[in-house]
Amino acid sequence: MKVLVAVKRVVDAYVKIRVASDGSGVETANTKMSMNPFDEIALEAAIRLVESGQASEVIAVSIGPDAVQEQLRTALAMGAQRAIHIDASADLEPLTVAKTLQALCARETPDLVILGKQAIDDDSNQTGQMLGALQGWGQATSVSALEFTQGKAVATREIDGGLERLAVTLPGIISVDLRLNDPRHPKLPDIMKAKRAPIEALTLSDLGITANQRLEVLEVREPPTRTPGVRVDSVSELIEKLRNEAGVMP
Ligand code: AMP
Repeated sequence: MKVLVAVKRVVDAYVKIRVASDGSGVETANTKMSMNPFDEIALEAAIRLVESGQASEVIAVSIGPDAVQEQLRTALAMGAQRAIHIDASADLEPLTVAKTLQALCARETPDLVILGKQAIDDDSNQTGQMLGALQGWGQATSVSALEFTQGKAVATREIDGGLERLAVTLPGIISVDLRLNDPRHPKLPDIMKAKRAPIEALTLSDLGITANQRLEVLEVREPPTRTPGVRVDSVSELIEKLRNEAGVMP
């Protein structure tokens, strides 16, 4: 089984986001960038399939400017066998990413594509679903447990009121949720080895893709600052404030 894993470079999850002064987006200059946390989980799941003998190869792919090679080297250090960088701008829409992955699937013929359930920068939660539609493949989204039997991926999803299990015929698509696994931290010798490992380079035009932007960001702004809370000395004072100031009690 050949597994393709899509990894996106995003602002590190522990960095406090700063809005660019011109309101055009989020500041990324001089900001720590990392692999999208859900994609680390996707990669960990794929690497475990190779380690357990269920998959033969994990290919990590990232679409974006040269800087995404940093995340691809992390993917190689974690244990991916190959890495593919598809050169593009950093702000592609999910449909363009899905079409690019579709074209890559035609070249690489993977049995399974694993993605994060969402990228934490745009929170779109669209790419896996769009790729599923474009490919006409089965898909399970937001997967929290995964096993393989009789040529099918059996995926567990946390849904309202319980757990849903789906059998996905391969080739198929899985998008992963936080509880699937704890991704490994690459070891220093593997990080050093990954620095010298080859990364295959492609462009969008190599894959016949044009990056059409259908959405325009009009403005990005900070949420309004909350007025600080006040401490009250008694329940009667609280009720008095709720009644007279907050207007929440009759
Ligand atoms: P999204 O639909 O933007 O929330 O992204 C969902 C998933 O699609 C991510 O977790 C990644 O696995 C994949 N993905 C999105 N954008 C890219 C990209 N530029 N390069 C590689 N994978 C991506």
